[in-house]
Amino acid sequence: MAKEIKKIGVLTSGGDAPGMNAAIRAVVRTALAKGMEVVGIEKGYNGLLNEEFRPMDKHSVSDIIQRGGTILYTARCLEFMSDEGVRKGAEICRKHGIDGMVVIGGDGSFRGARDLANEGINTIGVPGTIDLDVACSDYTIGFDTAVNTALEAIDKIRDTSTSHERCSIIEVMGRHAGYIALWCGIGCGAEDILLPEKYDNDEQELINHIIDGRKKGKKHHLIINAEGIGHSESMARRIEAATGIETRATILGYMQRGGSPTCTDRVYASMMGSYAVELLSEGKSNRVVAHSKGKFVDFDINEALEMKKNIDEYEFLVGELLSK
Ligand code: ADP
Repeated sequence: MAKEIKKIGVLTSGGDAPGMNAAIRAVVRTALAKGMEVVGIEKGYNGLLNEEFRPMDKHSVSDIIQRGGTILYTARCLEFMSDEGVRKGAEICRKHGIDGMVVIGGDGSFRGARDLANEGINTIGVPGTIDLDVACSDYTIGFDTAVNTALEAIDKIRDTSTSHERCSIIEVMGRHAGYIALWCGIGCGAEDILLPEKYDNDEQELINHIIDGRKKGKKHHLIINAEGIGHSESMARRIEAATGIETRATILGYMQRGGSPTCTDRVYASMMGSYAVELLSEGKSNRVVAHSKGKFVDFDINEALEMKKNIDEYEFLVGELLSK
C-alpha cells in the first residue's frame, strides 16, 4: 500500500525563475484541496537544514501568481551535497511530520531531491530554470519569460545599433546551454547566433559576415552570444579592430531573471505544481515532472538525470538560414 501523505514541504532551489511562485501556489492549493498540510521551506535546502519553515494556507499564496522571483527565496547549499547533510534533512522532515516534498529547481536541485527520496522522504522535482537545460523536459519554468524579457531589451539595442550603424554583441544567459541564445537569436532576427554547443571559435567567419553585410548595405549587425561562450567585451574589441566598424558588447545579465511571468510560464508552472502533488498523493517518490511531446508526464529522477538533451538541429538550421 502506498504511504499516505499528510504533510508536505515545498522549496525552491538553485537560480530563481519567473513562474516559480505560480508553481508554489499550485502546490499549496492542490495539497490543501487534498486535505494535506503544507509547509513552505525558505532558501532551498539551506532552509531545510536550518528549519526555516513557514506554514502555508490558501492565502499565503494569494497575489503571487503574477510575481517574478520566489516568495520562498532560493539558495545554494553545500552542506546538502554531503550524505550527512541529506540525512540531517530527512531527520528534520520526520521531526516536523513532513512525509512528502516538492523541490522546484534544476538538475542540481534534483540530485538533492533524489538523495532525500533515498532517505525515505517522498520527493518530487519540478523543473524551474530559465536555462531550459533539464534533459527530460521540453519546457522549464521561467524560460518563456526570460526569452521575452531578453528579446525586449535586444529590440531596443537594435534601434540604437541601426542608428549608429554599429555591430552589437548581446550576451544572454543560459549557463552552459544555448537555448536562450537560440530563441532570442531567431526571435530578434540576429545576423549571428553563437551557441556553446555549436560555435567553433571561427572569429574570421564572423568578421567576414559583418564586412559582407556592410557591403550589401546592412545598417547593423546583431550577434547574440551565449553566456557559455562569454568574452563578449574582448570579442567586440577584436571585431572592431578587424572590421573598422564600431562594435559594442552588452551583457544583459540578471535583468533576464526577473519580472512578471508570461502566461505560458504561469500556466505550465501551475500544471506542473499540481501534477507534483498528484504524484505525492498517489504515493510516488523520486519522480520529476516534465513536459514532453505535448503532454505533462513524469520520469524517475535517476533516469531523468542521465538523459541528454541537445539543441534541436532543425531550429539551429533555421536560425542559421535566416541569419545569413
Ligand atoms: P540547479 O538546481 O538550478 O541546477 P544548482 O546546481 O546550484 O542549481 O543546485 C542547487 C542546490 O541543489 C545546490 O546548492 C545543492 O544544495 C543541491 N545539490 C546540487 N547538486 C547536488 C548533489 N549532487 N547532491 C545533493 N544535492 C545537490
